[in-house]
This record gives sequence, structure tokens and C-alpha cells, in this order.
Amino acid sequence: MIKQLDAALVQRIAAGEVIDRPSSIIRELLDNSLDAGSSSITIWIEGGGIDSITVQDNGSGMSEEDLRSACHAHATSKISTIDDLFRIRTMGFRGEALYSIAACSAITIVSRGKKKTVDNTSEGPMQDDLSSESGTRIEVKDLFSQIPARKMFLKRPATEAAMCMNMAVEKALAFPSVEFKLFSDQELKVHLPSAEPRQRVIDVLSRDHGFLGSDTDEFRSDSDTFKLYGVGTTSESYRSDRSQIKVFVNSHCIEDFSLVTAITNGYSEQFPGGRFPYFCLFITIDPELVDFNIHPAKRECRIRIKAQLSGWVTTMIRSQLRKKIRQVTSQPRHEEQPFLPDQKSSTAEASPSYGGQHGIVQHQGFERSDLKFDQSWFENARKVMKKTEPPSQFEEIAKRLYIYVGQVFRLFLVAEKDGKLMFVDQHAAHERILYDEFCNNKQIQRLLIPYRFEVERDTDAFLLENSYIYSDFGIELTRPEDLIWEIDTIPLISKGVEDRIASFIKDSTGDIEEIEKNLFSTLACKAAIKAGDEVDSLTAIAILDKVLKMEKPVCPHGRIFITEITEQSLREAVGRFK
Ligand code: ADP
Ligand code: MG
Repeated sequence: MIKQLDAALVQRIAAGEVIDRPSSIIRELLDNSLDAGSSSITIWIEGGGIDSITVQDNGSGMSEEDLRSACHAHATSKISTIDDLFRIRTMGFRGEALYSIAACSAITIVSRGKKKTVDNTSEGPMQDDLSSESGTRIEVKDLFSQIPARKMFLKRPATEAAMCMNMAVEKALAFPSVEFKLFSDQELKVHLPSAEPRQRVIDVLSRDHGFLGSDTDEFRSDSDTFKLYGVGTTSESYRSDRSQIKVFVNSHCIEDFSLVTAITNGYSEQFPGGRFPYFCLFITIDPELVDFNIHPAKRECRIRIKAQLSGWVTTMIRSQLRKKIRQVTSQPRHEEQPFLPDQKSSTAEASPSYGGQHGIVQHQGFERSDLKFDQSWFENARKVMKKTEPPSQFEEIAKRLYIYVGQVFRLFLVAEKDGKLMFVDQHAAHERILYDEFCNNKQIQRLLIPYRFEVERDTDAFLLENSYIYSDFGIELTRPEDLIWEIDTIPLISKGVEDRIASFIKDSTGDIEEIEKNLFSTLACKAAIKAGDEVDSLTAIAILDKVLKMEKPVCPHGRIFITEITEQSLREAVGRFK
């Protein structure tokens, strides 16, 4: 028999879409405060936001009439006609956030001397409020206390608190001119003062990742219909995953694989495989070209000119990075770049890291202004460099001698051998050496304090069945509580990277062979010399001695890491034919 559901139940069902945990309340309340034009917002959470969340802003405030209706279904001041839906300039527009929050908690809104509470759908009376704050204060208490099934899906308070902080930081990235503070159980956890856009990104990176401000590049590009602004780290600071590439469309942080790929493609000449920048891309686009009305949390959107936009993003990043390389390489006597001709100075002062065991051939007499970036030459060189020789040839080379020339781009170790320059990717090469070492040396270390981490339900189930795959690698795991795991031992070679191992374990379910393959490189990778590290000649030679001998110079991820350029092709490039 079909029955009409009662109103409170309908409201709760609808609320489930918008509000699934404390951080979604933070998202909605912050969106409202931002829409109200606030310049300073303070957030207090208790018990990870499950016990209470309070957001105080200094925005426009709400009239008594608005206070009365704010928690009703589809109550919004932001749109009124269907056409408005296609030119939204506010963060909210669906009029369902406060309504949903009121369905699963006790919410109190205080503004302009009035105060109103709605407790799990039941409305309280309008009251006077004596506090003299400007703007609006919203308190949300006892989330899901009347919906135990939903409460069960929440994580531990500390984890929920971390998600709330991440949400606040995400909003702060999109609104740099607004001051944000967040207190968790009375402790100030986030304080981001009003800042310029780039500084805001730097503040967030230094807060979350111990970053130094000088390590960023700024990117800009404008067209008639959109504006791009990006801040990203330089090739010295990178991650091995894409998790810190953030994309904002009209101030909403969205999950969009193709735009993330557009960013990594832009970096592909700077960051070799497996390395990704920290990046924030802010896209401001004509609201008529974008539809946020497809996802309740506005995590996704449809963009009408997506392909064009992606291409634009890649080009913006790539061309600007190339320009930068050109600038850096044409600076006189910069210690990193002595191999480009310097018209004035004697080039004998080349940095020791390039001197190696072999002098660098010097040319004189170029005009710096003539140092054009010759695209076709580079393309040619790249083609030549792409041709990797079959393994047997590397074996032969190893039997003979080589001369270490030096390190270039802080990425390649260069050796001259038999009419060729061999370029060895220092990171991949070292990773491979560690990988081999790891295979030969399976010493393990017991951690003084076991490393504790929380996992999702599916990972928990997977680990209960399969934790043996990790013990085979010297990683002993125990499970002290539901959803909580601890690392008790790790391979000696992976000392200090427990956090990385834990995050690997958290994200790994499914194909065991695949996990084993990736785990190896995770264990070896972190300890490896990175791209961007300066490598002294002794270390370089130790690496070259090993890798030039290898039958198959491939890294644990399967990438060939040695490439070469022949004397012949260099000669041809400058018009000398033998
Ligand atoms: P939406 O944001 O989609 O309009 P909400 O349910 O989030 O819907 O909010 C309902 C209305 O309450 C908003 O349209 C706005 O008019 C008002 N409101 C909510 N929070 C605030 C605030 N912090 N300051 C001023 N007005 C607010
Ligand atoms: Mg809203």
C-alpha cells in the first residue's frame, strides 16, 4: 500500500543529500557567511563538530522575517526566477542548507538582536538576543542525535575535526581577502588573516605542509569568457600523488579529473612521471557557462567549454614555465646554469657541480638578446633523446669507462661515453638502486611507538583478510580497535616514512599483485635522492657505476631512466657535418 510520508521524514531524507557529516555543515555555513559579504569568519567546533558547531560572521545579517523563514524548505534570498539559475554568482542558491541542517540537529540562528531555534524540525519561538555582535551567528548542536543510523557512519571526533579544518581551509583558499579562524575544543587550529591570493596559498601550504613561500610560481591567463589564476610549487617541491592539486570554479572547489590532468600536462616538461606539484587553480567563468545544479554539495559542475578551458590551462602553465627556464638560464653567472654562454665573464668559474671530472666546453661571443628559445631544436633534441637503446647496449657501455660530466637541471647526471652523452634521471636511478637494496636486504625495525591510523570500512575488511602481503615486506600490522590499525615494524630502509606507508595502506584495496608492485616503490621512493637535489660528484659516480651496469635501466615504476644524445646529432644541430 502506498502511503504519504510525513513531513519530518521527507525533510530528513532530503537532508541526507546535503548534510552527511560535520564538515558539510561547515561548508554550508561558510558559504552563507561568504554570500553575506563577511570579511571575517570564526568557527568553533566541539567534539569534531558532532557535539557543536558555531559560525560567527560579520556579514549583512538577517532580518527578523528572514530568520523566521530561513530554515524552511527552498527558502533562499539568492535566486527567484528560472533565469537566475543560469547566472549564479553566489555560493548558495538551492535554499536547502539551513532546512537540511534543521532536520538533523538543533540549529540556532542569531542576528540583529533576534534569535530562533529549530530543533530536529520542530520550530521554537522568536526570541530576543542581547549580544551585540554584528553579522550572524549560527550554532548547530548534537548532529544526528535523532538519526542513529547516520551517526554510525561518522568517524572518530579527531578525524571529523580534521575534515572540518580542511573544509575551512578550502573555503579560505577561494576567499583570500576574508579572515578565517577555527577553534577545535577551544584551541585555535586555523588562523588565516586576510591576504593577497598568492600569500593565502602560501599560508595554507606552510600551515599544512611546512612550506617556504619562495617555492611558488604564479600563473595568469584571461579570455573573454574566463579568467585563470594559479599558484603552484616549483620543481623542487612536489608530491608523488595528485592529491594537492586543487581546482576552484567560481570559488567552489570541485573534483574534476580532466582539469587536474590539464594541470599535470602543463607541468610535464618540468616534473617527470610520478611527480606532481602542489597547485591551486582558480577559474572564474561566466556563470552562464557553468552549471552547479548537478551535485548537492557542488563538488561537480558542468562547464560548457570544458575542452577549450583544459587546453588553455595546460598552455598557460607550460608556456609560463618555459619562459621562466629561459629567464633563469640566461642570467649571468648563476651558479646553477653555467653551461649557457655568458658574454662578459670568463666561464672558468663554472659551478663545481657542473665541473665534475670534466671541463665544460665553453663558447664565447653570443649576444644575450639573441638567446632565443628555439623550439624546433628542442623538439629535435627531445626526439633524439627519446630513442632509448636496447638493454644489451647498456651492458656494453658498463664494461667500458665513462667520464662524469656533471649534474644538469638538478635532475640528470650526465656521463660522456663513446661519442654520446648519457643522461641519467637521478631520482629514478637512485630509486632503482634502493629498490635493489631493499630486495637484497630485508632487515626490519620495530617502532618504539606503533604508528596508528584510521581506515575506511572497505580497507578494514581488506586488511583483515590480506595484511599478510604487508608482513612479507616487513610491515607488521595489528588492529587494536575497529577501523584502527597500527604499524609495528617497518623495513629498515623505510625508516621515518611511516606516514607515507600508512597512507599507502589506507588507499590500497583490490589487486594484490598491483599493491605489491606499488608498495616496493613506495618503500624505496621516499628515501631516494629527489629531482632538484644537488648531487655531489662522489654520489653521482656511485650511482652511475651501478646503473650504467644494469641490463635494464628501469625504475620500480617501469620507466627507463637513461637516455642519450649523440655527438653526431649535436654537431648536426649546429650545422657541422662530418
Ligand atoms: P541558500 O544559501 O541556498 O540560499 P540556505 O539554506 O543556506 O540557502 O540559507 C537560506 C537563506 O538564509 C539564505 O538565502 C540567506 O538569505 C539567509 N542566510 C543564511 N545564512 C546567512 C548568513 N550567515 N548571513 C546572512 N544571511 C544568511
Ligand atoms: Mg547556503
